[in-house]
Amino acid sequence: MLEKGYTVWGMVRRASTETFERIEHIKGKIQLKQADLLDQLSLVRVLEESRPHEVYNLAAQSFVPTSWSQPVLTGELTGLGVTRMLEAVRLVDPGIRFYQASSSEMFGQVRETPQTERTPFHPRSPYGVAKVYGHAITINYRESYGIFACSGILFNHESPRRGKEFVTRKVTDGVARIKHGLARELRLGNLEARRDWGFAGDYVEAMWLMLQQEAADDYVIATGEGHSVRDLVELAFSPVGLDWRQYVVVDPNLKRPAEVDVLRGDATKARHRLGWAPKVRFPELVRMMVEADLARYSASR
Ligand code: GDP
Repeated sequence: MLEKGYTVWGMVRRASTETFERIEHIKGKIQLKQADLLDQLSLVRVLEESRPHEVYNLAAQSFVPTSWSQPVLTGELTGLGVTRMLEAVRLVDPGIRFYQASSSEMFGQVRETPQTERTPFHPRSPYGVAKVYGHAITINYRESYGIFACSGILFNHESPRRGKEFVTRKVTDGVARIKHGLARELRLGNLEARRDWGFAGDYVEAMWLMLQQEAADDYVIATGEGHSVRDLVELAFSPVGLDWRQYVVVDPNLKRPAEVDVLRGDATKARHRLGWAPKVRFPELVRMMVEADLARYSASR
């Protein structure tokens, strides 16, 4: 957004210790404003102060396993939080263009492969259930009030800035730690789960494109390629010359109460209507993440 010349405001939750590591490189160029998806008036205030033309709602309790231990909070933030944000938009300026970060987790136990905008949802976690609500309320505000509200159904998107609890980063960070002698094993859950992993940088371009169209709509954003966690592990270990079988330990405690076994998206609509296509493919993405983690540990020594 900064490269496109936007003035960017970021909404952040107050915490006694700041966790701005991932925006450190741009912190001086954006305005940060405290507000909370649980507090309706704080959202109204932040919009009144910033007067945006576009709002991207990327906020959520987004970690699937936590959604089983905190299902109500997940519903409040990931589900009702969307309604609060849409209400703030409606009150402050119904002309604001709104992007909702919907998720491939909504497809859950998939009814067909690949998944499109027309595939029925069958979420498998409280997170997926909350995202289905967020998706539906976004469409409803478009239909009820004519708000320019888009829902992007994004498949897993990764980068060196991904949180370390997600499997891609957990693996690439694990490889770097093992290579640097800081760890001897990497504990993982289900190695057979398959995901359609893309590069976050490509996906944010799609979000922006959605808000530049003449009419608001919903789009699947995916690479169309599926890979297993096992493929990911093999690809991440091989460039550093280590045999993953000697380090990866399958820990049953990391398996989920209900799993999403396979996700693979069909982004034909986005390709035709938005002219969007992913640029970075899976092997390149994994290499980029491994290299970034290796460099991070080298620098800190
Ligand atoms: P999600 O698709 O949003 O749940 O993204 P994650 O990166 O958290 O998980 C992707 C897949 O990797 C899921 O099917 C997990 O069950 C599987 N997986 C296997 N081992 C692990 C692990 O140790 N951590 C995480 N987060 N996922 C794992």
